[in-house]
Amino acid sequence: MKTIVDRIGKPALLEQTAEECAELAHACLKEARRLRGENPTPKTTPECWLAISEELTDLQICIEMLEAAGYHGDQAIADVKRQRMVQRLDEAGK
Ligand SMILES: [Mg+2]
Repeated sequence: MKTIVDRIGKPALLEQTAEECAELAHACLKEARRLRGENPTPKTTPECWLAISEELTDLQICIEMLEAAGYHGDQAIADVKRQRMVQRLDEAGK
């Protein structure tokens, strides 16, 4: 049985992933705007949470397909990046 990636091809998968990243970014920005309250938005908390949940799910599906197509994250790189974030927070006294 052909996979979704077999059916649409890697370029389309990469485009879909970029699209879902942008949609998740938009949902996150809206929630940050709601939380900060400096520039009021009519979006409610449940609406913002649902939007983030939906876009995270879309992105998780894309990540699964990317992995099936041979693209992978790297745990060692993730560890270094997490440590760098902690170091920057420590340096900033946060
Ligand atoms: Mg989406």
